[in-house]
Amino acid sequence: MRYISTRGQAPALTFEEAMLSGLARDGGLYVPETIPHMSAGDIRALNGLSYEETAFRVMRPFVGDGFTDEVFADLIAKAYAGFGHNARAPMVQLAPNHFLLELFHGPTLAFKDFAMQLIGQLFQEALERRGERVTIVGATSGDTGSAAIEAFKGLDNVDVFILYPHGRVSEVQRRQMTTPLESNVHALALDGHFDDCQARLKDMFNHFEFRDSVRLAGVNSINWARVLAQVVYYFSSAVSLGAPDRKVSFTVPTGNFGDIFAGYIAKRMGLPIDRLVVATNQNDILHRCLSDGAYQTSQVHPSISPSMDIQVSSNFERALFDAYDRDGKAVGQLMDELKQGGFKVSQGALEALREHFDSARVSEDETLAMITHANATMGELLCPHSAIGAKVGEDMRDPATPMITLATAHPAKFPDAVEKASGLRPPLPNRMADLYERSERVTQVPNDLTALETLIQERIAK
Ligand SMILES: *Cc1c(COP(=O)(O)O)cnc(C)c1O
Repeated sequence: MRYISTRGQAPALTFEEAMLSGLARDGGLYVPETIPHMSAGDIRALNGLSYEETAFRVMRPFVGDGFTDEVFADLIAKAYAGFGHNARAPMVQLAPNHFLLELFHGPTLAFKDFAMQLIGQLFQEALERRGERVTIVGATSGDTGSAAIEAFKGLDNVDVFILYPHGRVSEVQRRQMTTPLESNVHALALDGHFDDCQARLKDMFNHFEFRDSVRLAGVNSINWARVLAQVVYYFSSAVSLGAPDRKVSFTVPTGNFGDIFAGYIAKRMGLPIDRLVVATNQNDILHRCLSDGAYQTSQVHPSISPSMDIQVSSNFERALFDAYDRDGKAVGQLMDELKQGGFKVSQGALEALREHFDSARVSEDETLAMITHANATMGELLCPHSAIGAKVGEDMRDPATPMITLATAHPAKFPDAVEKASGLRPPLPNRMADLYERSERVTQVPNDLTALETLIQERIAK
């Protein structure tokens, strides 16, 4: 299995190379050259398997020879051992024919643990075999950073530095980043916004001398291995509702388009998915684009669902690549236009996108109202992101096809919004109940490239 860039100008790589490099050298994102197919019989055979066994069968064809069957199965087992629920991704029912897929039982209480825990294991194994060491630097608005720290802490061949905007993440998110004691973990509170964190990260990747000297690696959501790990729960949930002999639809609270793109891959592999519904908050560039074809950036408006507050949805490039019949030149041109503020999707490509994706936008008031409603009538306390999904799932579900809404974070991760809507302050799960008592370790850093690079170099020299 080889991986090619969405801009068509970078060399094809193996799974392992694509995972370790993250972004392609032509600025594009890696996608599999061909999509492996699972027959109806293959899918039916997933019935009754554990999450780990399902994960092995779904991901194996994408991974290639870098990892043996035995090693790959072992890494999957380790990745999910720390989850707080045996089913890993359990489902509950919200309403007739509407189901909630709980993806928040991992160590940092958000769905990002599914991918991050696995790539932590895959990185460690690959680097050990190669006798290499890397420095992971990530920028986060909260959830990605905590998931990355949790996944890479204590691993021998990796240092992990996370830049988060000082004073702009929730207390639970901050504590998840600042309380791990392992010496390879470095939480950096940057004086600035999330956009500044992301800009400095990009600067580091573009500063080749620094990049090479520390062996910089990226684990943000454009890393193909993260998308792949998320394909699994589309299969596990659909099979438990009768796939492949019954179609299902999914509603996905969406920011960077990584999670829902995994659903699209599942569909391309042969999972009978009817609709994939993109649910956005007030930062609705994807909903606007799927409605009229105009992909136009505007300012980010901070919301109560901060993990979906995005200006540009980076994984959308992968969907565009297919919608433009895998024409890397055309995609490169769109991305050039994006630098000037936006682009218009061609009529043909828009029709291709709409064959798979629907979309809807949920306002702040509607989000709070849904948390209230779900608590009162569905017996479910939802985080604001999941509430956006559930609202859209309710509006879009039809009697013929089960709707599965993805719950992307635990309500205790966003207690203020949940309490405002429901009057209830959701407690942390027992296994992390002492989070508020643990001592914190964090370095405040200026919004300055040279200062950051110096700090990183000093820390990894120790
Ligand atoms: C990251 C995140 C999202 C958005 O997922 P994408 O893959 O970026 O679309 C939604 N909800 C929560 C809680 C998240 O952490």
